[in-house]
Amino acid sequence: MLSFRQLTIIFIIIIIGLNFVSLITSCFHCGWFGCQFYVWNILVFAAYSGISFALAFLPCSNFHHSVLCKGQTTEKVLSLTFDDGPDPKNSPLVLETLRKHHITATFFCIGKNLEGNEELIRQIVAEGHLIGNHGFSHSIRFDFFSSGRIRSELLKTNEIIKNITGKTPNFFRPPFGVVNPMVSRALKGMSWQTVCWNIRSLDTVMKNPKKISDRIFTRLKPGSIILLHDHSDFSSRYLDNLLSEITLSGYKVVPLDQLLNKPS
Ligand SMILES: [Zn+2]
Repeated sequence: MLSFRQLTIIFIIIIIGLNFVSLITSCFHCGWFGCQFYVWNILVFAAYSGISFALAFLPCSNFHHSVLCKGQTTEKVLSLTFDDGPDPKNSPLVLETLRKHHITATFFCIGKNLEGNEELIRQIVAEGHLIGNHGFSHSIRFDFFSSGRIRSELLKTNEIIKNITGKTPNFFRPPFGVVNPMVSRALKGMSWQTVCWNIRSLDTVMKNPKKISDRIFTRLKPGSIILLHDHSDFSSRYLDNLLSEITLSGYKVVPLDQLLNKPS
C-alpha cells in the first residue's frame, strides 16, 4: 500500500510531466492537450485529494501514519478496547463484568472526562486494565484542528492521566478513527503507538444486542481488536453474554500490549 508521502511524490511527478508535455505541444500548435492541460491538472489534483481524503477514514491502510489494527498471530486470541470513557454510570458495570471473567481490557479515555472521575481511573488501573489516550476534547472538529492543537490536546490528556495514575500512556487512539496529515504531523517524533481496531461493534449505533454480537462474531479472527464503548448500553448490559460467547468459541481475551507486543 502506498503512503501519503509516496502518493505526493507521484502526484508532483505527474503534474511536472503533464505541464512539460503541455509546454512542448503548445510550442508547435494549440492542440487539444496543449490548450486543455489545465483540465488535466485539475483532474490529477482532484484524484490526489480524493485518495488522501478517503484513506484518512481507513487508518488501517497505514496511508497517513503507522497504525496497528490487529495482532500478528494465528492463535485464537483477541483484545477488548473501550473508547470515550470514563463514564461514572456505566464504566463501573463494565469493570464488574471484566472482573467476573478475569479479563484485562484497554480504556481509551477522553481527557475532558477525566476530571471528577479520578477514583474511577485509579480503580481501572488498580484492576490491571490499560489506559490509552483518546484526545482531550473529542470534538467533531478534531480532524480540522491544526497539528499543533492536536498535539497539545494529546500531551494534555497524557499529563492528566499521569497525574492521576502515575503512568504515562503509550497507546493513542484517534477520535473517530480518522488519521489525516494533521494527526500524523501531531504525532511526529512521539514514540506513541497509534492503535485502531479491525472489529467495530457499532455498539453506540445499533440497538439490537444480538445484531451487535453477530456482527462481532462474523468478523472474529485471531489477533482481533474489538472496539466497544464503556458508556454504551451494550457494554453495560450485554458484555457478560459477549464474554461468555467468546470463551465458548475458544477465543481468549488478552491485554492489548500482549496482543501487539508493544509497551502500553
Ligand atoms: Zn471516540
